[in-house]
Amino acid sequence: MIIAVSGCLLGENIRHNGGHKRDTFITDELGKHAEYISFCPEDLAFGTPRDSIRLITATEGIIVQNNVTSEDVTPLLTKTSKEELNRIAEHPLCGIILKSKSPSCGLGSTVLYRTNGYSETKGNGVFAQMCKEKFPLLPMEEEGRLLDPWLRENFIMQLFAYHDFETFKASIPTMKDLVAYHQSYKFMLQSKNDDNYMKLGNIVGNHNNDSFQVVLSTYETLFKETISHKSSIGKTRNVLEHMAGFLKKEISEVEKKTLHEQICDYTHKIIPLITPLSTIDMLAKNYNINYLLGQKFLHPYPKELALRSDLKSSK
Ligand code: SF4
Repeated sequence: MIIAVSGCLLGENIRHNGGHKRDTFITDELGKHAEYISFCPEDLAFGTPRDSIRLITATEGIIVQNNVTSEDVTPLLTKTSKEELNRIAEHPLCGIILKSKSPSCGLGSTVLYRTNGYSETKGNGVFAQMCKEKFPLLPMEEEGRLLDPWLRENFIMQLFAYHDFETFKASIPTMKDLVAYHQSYKFMLQSKNDDNYMKLGNIVGNHNNDSFQVVLSTYETLFKETISHKSSIGKTRNVLEHMAGFLKKEISEVEKKTLHEQICDYTHKIIPLITPLSTIDMLAKNYNINYLLGQKFLHPYPKELALRSDLKSSK
């Protein structure tokens, strides 16, 4: 899985002051499961160390200004941002992780100043804005927001689901494969957006008798859009109960009661999501419920990341 990352988050000494902002979750944990392509449009434009810059909202659009000399450096940063964008686009990316608050890399957290020098609002950095426009369906997040366990868990699930779809597409699938793929994502898609899950089912049903390429392409767009949604405790509870429904004919009363209690405790934030999921996984293995065992929602990413062990990963 290839992810483009702001170079300073990888520990490269390329910030304006010659320092870095190494993020150990990205380098030491996610890094075991991904290959990184680094970028830095500012180092390319101005070298390191360099004067800091700011974004100003002017009538003609966003202006990039040197904080020391007040020089308008918009053309140069725009040029190097495009170069970095084209360079990372040469790779089969599954996501982009950006440095928050940066005039280049911030994704919604960059301060935009008014021409009178006062801060006005927050928006995207120059490079981040280009990324949003070029890759509208690609998982994209700032490292600052990834400190929130809920956003982190949702983003990592999105990354791996995106990568899984790309791998599926590269396998030259048939219609039958797409039906099986959709089935395996049933509970994950329901935990994101139940309406979209139904729409995806209709696409797979192919009631218009479209060519497989048209069906796959339509499915891909809505699938990638759906995995970008955030899950909630309510939606996840529905999914857990639905999964438990697949077990109810097989399991004992004690097992049923235990699972029900765990789902309630999860809903009340007493235990983390991993607890009822591990019970469902164990019971599905014990009673050979293959439909459940094939569900991506049980194992959406490497278990070593342990994101569902955190009570705060559910909201
Ligand atoms: S431009 Fe982006 S990658 Fe470069 S130092 Fe600033 S935040 Fe980091």
